[in-house]
Amino acid sequence: MMKEISRIGVIGSGQMGAGIAQVSAMSGYETLIWDVSKDNLTENVKGIFSQLNKMVEKGKLTAIQSEAAKALLFAGNTMQDFASCDLVVEAATENFQVKAEIFKNLDETLKPEGILASNTSSISITKIAATTKRPSQVIGMHFMNPVPLMKLVELIRGIQTNDETYNAIKLVVDKMGKTGVQASDSPGFTVNRVLMPMINEAIFLFQEGTKAKDIDDGMQLGTNQPMGPLALADLIGLDTCLFIMQVLHRELGEDKYRPCPLLVKYVEAGWFGRKSKKGFYTY
Ligand code: NAD
Repeated sequence: MMKEISRIGVIGSGQMGAGIAQVSAMSGYETLIWDVSKDNLTENVKGIFSQLNKMVEKGKLTAIQSEAAKALLFAGNTMQDFASCDLVVEAATENFQVKAEIFKNLDETLKPEGILASNTSSISITKIAATTKRPSQVIGMHFMNPVPLMKLVELIRGIQTNDETYNAIKLVVDKMGKTGVQASDSPGFTVNRVLMPMINEAIFLFQEGTKAKDIDDGMQLGTNQPMGPLALADLIGLDTCLFIMQVLHRELGEDKYRPCPLLVKYVEAGWFGRKSKKGFYTY
């Protein structure tokens, strides 16, 4: 029987890992973060500290709360340091081989009752779980970007995930002030499965000659979205959008998921959206 989760590990300190670690420490969990790149780890832990300072400046956190979060955050030296965690959330690079290796190592080091979660956007949780000897204690926790701001966490049960694991994770998500919504272990889960084809369709319209601003204004005003699909695609990154469409197309095997040729061209050109200063808009 799993006691209440109090110590959380985060593997990978990139955009998502850093955000998850920040929220975890802010929620009162002792939090250990590690990255295969020492430089990334040092840089990104500094980044978390400066995010916490900014929140104090903006009045979103008191100085005491910020210091309490910092005191709960530790950078690990090796994966061995994770042995005593109650939960480890993996947020490393989106590549099955990378994740399989991490899960295999964690499975060997983590205490037997510990839970392993992945923040993957596109890899089957069942497949990741099968790389361990504890598949019933493996689950998907799909945080949204930027983690400190976004309310949703998709909770994905692999075919072998047990109720105890699901319930323990649901409590963690609640304590983090997020809303956990169950999604099926199928490509894109819920949000990307619906969102990406919408973005892809907007790109088809743009390719056919409708102006980007007209598509975005139409969708924004007509469906009450905070921004139009093309502006959102630029924000997410067009390379990421293409990658997710390719996963949906390949794994679900239906023509309706075919990536728009213009999206492919933009990515080939290095037009990734905001991060490269050019996408459907110029930044
Ligand atoms: P990122 O590139 O910003 O960070 C990945 C980090 O993982 C890097 O610091 C890298 O050094 C580290 N890493 C690579 N191999 C490792 C290993 N073997 N052990 C430990 N660390 C390792 O990526 P990200 O955007 O933070 O994405 C991380 C995960 O979160 C991916 O699975 C991605 O699909 C998922 N995700 C991303 C978003 C998003 O919007 N960026 C949203 C939801 C989920």
